[in-house]
Amino acid sequence: MGTTRRDFLTAAAAAAAGAAATGELSHAQQEPGHEHQAVPSDMTLRVKALESLLVEKGIVDSKALDALVDTYENKLGPHIGARIVARAWTDPAFKQRLLADTDAAIEAMGFGGQQGERMVAVENTPRVHNVIVCTLCSCYPWSVLGLPPMWYKSTAYRSRTVIDPRGVLKELGLDLPETVEVHVWDSTADLRYIVLPERPPGTENLSEQELARLVTRDSMIGVARVQAPREGGRA
Ligand code: FE
Repeated sequence: MGTTRRDFLTAAAAAAAGAAATGELSHAQQEPGHEHQAVPSDMTLRVKALESLLVEKGIVDSKALDALVDTYENKLGPHIGARIVARAWTDPAFKQRLLADTDAAIEAMGFGGQQGERMVAVENTPRVHNVIVCTLCSCYPWSVLGLPPMWYKSTAYRSRTVIDPRGVLKELGLDLPETVEVHVWDSTADLRYIVLPERPPGTENLSEQELARLVTRDSMIGVARVQAPREGGRA
């Protein structure tokens, strides 16, 4: 199986490289409507090869891998962070606890880190705007936000956010006035941050659940604000 798979991977990679080099039209391109499955990306092929080898050698259990993928794909995600933010907006005692002892507050809601890392919530106010980054790699509060977006892991975001946070935020669509101080928080494997965004005006009558639906992943990274629902309607 190992040899067969490796042969397949080598052949697929060679075919893709050959087609790219010659500019040759693929079979599907020559015959529109004749669909073929596209050759997976190099990274996908590498991951598949690694996975099959690890399973084959009994180093990992495929069921355990499936459970892990399911956790990241379906269970963890920004919906958790959004619920925490909405709770903080509607419950002043919870907000105080969240800012003073983020781990305990998150745990009280039934969520929490699974790697033993510490979490710290940083609050946006009319005078201070917080943004998170990992300059070293891609540390991210995944236990409350799920998997990081691709741009979060990019060299450009990681290096430029600490050098020119205002410029980066502006490019991402958030133009902050000069009167607002920008604080950049560099995450590590032991310490990760979540931004507590400002509650948008005009949301006084919304319930905690409705508020949670307004909170985006980007607002909890600090590259966006939470927007009030249009027409001042319900979330
Ligand atoms: Fe990192």
